[in-house]
Amino acid sequence: MAIETGDGRRVAAAEAAAEAAIIAPRRPVVAGGFPARRMRRLRRGEGLRRLVRETTLQPDDFIYPLFVSEAISEPAPITSMPGQSQWPLGTLARQARQIAALGIGGVILFGIPSVKDELGSGAYAADGVVQRAIREIKDAAPDLVVVTDVCLCEYTSHGHCGLVREGVVQNDETLELLAREAVSHARAGADVVAPSDMMDGRVAALREALDESGYADLPILAYSAKFASAFYGPFREAAESAPQFGDRRGYQMDPANGREALREVELDVLEGADMVMVKPALPYLDVLARVRDRWDLPLAAYNVSGEYAMLKAAAANGWLDERRATIELLGGIKRAGADIIITYHAIEAARWLTEP
Ligand SMILES: [Zn+2]
Repeated sequence: MAIETGDGRRVAAAEAAAEAAIIAPRRPVVAGGFPARRMRRLRRGEGLRRLVRETTLQPDDFIYPLFVSEAISEPAPITSMPGQSQWPLGTLARQARQIAALGIGGVILFGIPSVKDELGSGAYAADGVVQRAIREIKDAAPDLVVVTDVCLCEYTSHGHCGLVREGVVQNDETLELLAREAVSHARAGADVVAPSDMMDGRVAALREALDESGYADLPILAYSAKFASAFYGPFREAAESAPQFGDRRGYQMDPANGREALREVELDVLEGADMVMVKPALPYLDVLARVRDRWDLPLAAYNVSGEYAMLKAAAANGWLDERRATIELLGGIKRAGADIIITYHAIEAARWLTEP
């Protein structure tokens, strides 16, 4: 058998084998680099790789979102988010204990009221769905951190995040309603309030109202850079919060803007945010990294419903190794700068990370 060599000669197989056996290694000398430095030295074996690993995930990095509905009596699976459900009141104690036992850092609550109105009054009702959910969870798992999403869109008949007049979401009047909502969550026992509405001045409005009501110690996690993203699609089904007219681009950020995101963060920090957030996560890792570089407060990233749904769909088709892809994805968000990852994968990832 004849074999083509690299220099175009045809030689017999035996001759080629003999030639291969005497190939001289090539070791170009690079000042300060190869061969003195060989990056592969620290990749030899899992022990060394673990020792030099820069980013590690733990269950307490995660916050798990819970959708709580007043309108159902049995858990209602969310078809576009496989494995996720809306939960009725009365089932949260069990959920909370399971989440706490896994060591997950906390939960964030979204409420679905049985009645919606123009003013979103269910959002700040003392016996509203989230207020009742907070009490149920704190009774069952007192040490589990309960974050509440502060917004009106799940509670308004029009589905917008604020008060609407003549088709326009009113900024300053919305602030008063958001302030009432945050205070009512605080009264119910929330550990952290997280405004997600993207009105200007909301962090300051919440801080002032909380302080006036005796909750000066309650921290605010601001959804500071929240983009008007296509990746929220499945969430709208989950939270039943799709706008009935128009869209949210009049208050959420343009996905094209990175510098503007830094200005949003700057304002929220000035207004008294204790933690800030970038949402979504994957298309905005550059924004996360820039925020991380510039500020030292705890930084959260929301790994949103569409990001979850994409991975689940690919895994269901056998196109991705779900476990490896999920850990890589969450690790990437943390490596980009997030301290806290709000993710629907929290329960599965916590199990994967802790099982032997
Ligand atoms: Zn909203």
